Amino acid sequence: MKITKVETFLVGLPHRNFLFVKVQTDEGIDGIGEAYSCGPDDATVAVIRDFESWLVGRDPRDVEALWHLMYAGSRFPGGAILNAAISGIEHALWDIAGKALGTPVYRLLGGKVRERIRVYQAPRGATSEALAEDAVALVERYGYTALKISPQPPGFEKLAWSALVREAVARMEAVRRAVGEDVDIGVDPHARIFEPARALEMAEALQPYRPLFFEEPLRPENVDALAYVRARSPIPIATGEMLYTKFQFRELLEKRAADVVQPDVCVAGGILECKKIAAMAEAHYVTVAPHNPMGPVATAVNVHLAASTPNFLVLEYTADDQPPRRDLRVEPLRVKDGYIDVLDRPGLGVELDEAAFEHYPPVRWHRPFPIQPDGSMGFY
Ligand code: MG
Repeated sequence: MKITKVETFLVGLPHRNFLFVKVQTDEGIDGIGEAYSCGPDDATVAVIRDFESWLVGRDPRDVEALWHLMYAGSRFPGGAILNAAISGIEHALWDIAGKALGTPVYRLLGGKVRERIRVYQAPRGATSEALAEDAVALVERYGYTALKISPQPPGFEKLAWSALVREAVARMEAVRRAVGEDVDIGVDPHARIFEPARALEMAEALQPYRPLFFEEPLRPENVDALAYVRARSPIPIATGEMLYTKFQFRELLEKRAADVVQPDVCVAGGILECKKIAAMAEAHYVTVAPHNPMGPVATAVNVHLAASTPNFLVLEYTADDQPPRRDLRVEPLRVKDGYIDVLDRPGLGVELDEAAFEHYPPVRWHRPFPIQPDGSMGFY
């Protein structure tokens, strides 16, 4: 079997894109994947187009070899763009391998360690009341047993520190009271606290409400700073959405900077790379809660990863029963009692509706930077 073509599809959401990859073969079997929407998405598309010339004529089932061809063949260790491109292509190779054998991908990863995958979604709300209301609505609608909240309200950049901590506690308390003790609640300040001492103060303030984890209290560049926080934090520290490959997770794990790792299959290097990261984490008594804000292929890939990973904790998820997510896949995933069933069709078990893509043209986007009270741009 030989690869004949690699295609990309940029599908626009209001605030970012989904970047789907399709790999075709001379035996008529196609595979699909999803690359992370890193920001300059045209750059990721260009890298995937370039990789096409490296991959045509190769056997798509040699996943490990082709991963190294792309990773090491680009000479310098790649950043987010390169690893997103590799990840999207890698998913498609697994999809092809599974379809060629008539078996779901999880069977090629060691088989099932669980029958269904626990997922969580993030409620939204500007006020603590609105946040709690949305949390209850999500639990009632999908049966979630876990949620994740942002401790910062919109416009938090303008709040005094003491007021921000008070707001964070109010939001956590409102959601905890609304959903009770039987729903886990993760907290994600989106790497926007900056100083380690403040991250610790926030962790201590939230501890009475027993968060499942405290995600990305700090930015990802300085692992020693996060290790400092983790050693003193009264609640478990989670991180990893901005890291890629086993090499970056090695430092995180060796420095004991996290209790939970959150690799994203669309940028960390793909399924097999995330299996390796999960195995490294397991040896450090660390669990895996994959970052998964992207589209339907990403979720399917994560379901196979979680199905075969013993130290899996919980998967980030956004219900896909609303447009545009609802329109992009042939058959929507169903969440029942807060879980998604393991996918048992050959390959990844997800089929995209390419005809729907034209209704969602790509958007140019960047992470919004609010202007600070002093007129500066909010550097991080
Ligand atoms: Mg996050």
